[in-house]
Amino acid sequence: ISSVELTQHYLKRIEQFDGALNSYITVTPELALEQARTADARIAAGDAGPLTGIALAHKDLFCTQGVRTSCGSKMLDNFIAPYESTVTQRFIDAGTVMLGKTNMDEFAMGSSNESSFYGPVRNPWNSEHVPGGSSGGSAAAVAARLCAAATGTDTGGSIRQPAGFTALTGLKPTYGRVSRWGMIAYASSLDQGGPMARNAEDCALLLQAMAGFDPKDSTSVDAPVPDYSASLNDSLKGLRIGLPKEYFSAGLDSATAAAIETAVQQFQALGAEIKEISLPNAELAIPAYYVIAPAEASSNLSRFDGVRFGYRCDNPADLTDLYTRSRGEGFGAEVKRRILVGTYALSAGYYDAYYLKAQKIRRLIKNDFMAAYEQVDAILCPTSPTPAFRIGEKIDDPVSLYLTDIYTITANLAGVPGIALPAGFANGLPIGMQLLGPYFSEARLLNIAHQYQ
Ligand code: GLN
Repeated sequence: ISSVELTQHYLKRIEQFDGALNSYITVTPELALEQARTADARIAAGDAGPLTGIALAHKDLFCTQGVRTSCGSKMLDNFIAPYESTVTQRFIDAGTVMLGKTNMDEFAMGSSNESSFYGPVRNPWNSEHVPGGSSGGSAAAVAARLCAAATGTDTGGSIRQPAGFTALTGLKPTYGRVSRWGMIAYASSLDQGGPMARNAEDCALLLQAMAGFDPKDSTSVDAPVPDYSASLNDSLKGLRIGLPKEYFSAGLDSATAAAIETAVQQFQALGAEIKEISLPNAELAIPAYYVIAPAEASSNLSRFDGVRFGYRCDNPADLTDLYTRSRGEGFGAEVKRRILVGTYALSAGYYDAYYLKAQKIRRLIKNDFMAAYEQVDAILCPTSPTPAFRIGEKIDDPVSLYLTDIYTITANLAGVPGIALPAGFANGLPIGMQLLGPYFSEARLLNIAHQYQ
């Protein structure tokens, strides 16, 4: 079929089903059809790549020129990005079509997509349940087939956890593999964009377009990008997979544990060797993350002051009133909570006790991974302690929501890549698992996931 037909197909599905799901914040039908016509012309001219004409959705924190980029916040409800992020520009260059921008937790802070200014997103597998977060709109849109694949970002699990909750495959690359330029910053030392798709094969194609050096991001790594599709069919014979014993302790739901046990047997049948390993500092990850991420966020979000762009309160009395009310009215509760925590942790008297301590823990967690990768090629573990919980279940108890990130945030603190993939179902809800690997092992992770699928 042509790209125009494919695009029309998805636009129709969005119209039919997204009223109930709320996975898109903005749908861009005219732009999509224009891009689809360009793609069809490229295909006709013999100038097509593997993604030319494929209809995608982008998380609403990638700046897209001329299109509202809200970051799920009232603060940016009126913000039309004046420039294109590197990731979305690369997708334009690859000839993809953008159907629209997906819903997300406000400023990517959350694990359930309930902190969005645009309302919660529903899980397509069961509409009473959350799709995960913060890339919940991308997850729901791909799972409900309202786009072929989507982009997400992962600061503490926001690609892997929603992928796990919706039976998708989602990859968080090594920190520095994908440019952060034009991605609205949450916690800059942890943020990383990546693909969310139906399987590893699609993720490989998407990552191929996204990855690579970008002089506009000072943390972008100047290293060659391998052909991610080329090694998908490599054998898993002799692959050493580690099971971190700390990740299979109390608190892990029994259906999730059983699903991973089944996966272990399947990996063994594929020729992998399974070993128990230890990540001894894993239990310190949540407290360290919830100091570092809010600290960076409090600094990053100081730019939203109501002056140059974004929400501005009505009739400010003076400059202080302008700042106070614009921020007070423009940010939601979770964002304010994080700014307060972060500002506190960075303040002169507490810096050593909190921020510096958290950075030391971060190093210990990284060292745990480095020691583990001396013994194994990849680590297998759940993405979350339970399948998707109910909408409203945890929203009044932020700490219980933070605790659900226990298996995902270690990879962000260490900067290592991870891929989430479906591990089965319990009571009609998907169960996710993830494979973590050494720095720049994306090709191997995609290969392992593909062989498993
Ligand atoms: N749930 C985590 C948080 O709220 C991670 C979010 C993310 O990866 N963007 O910070």
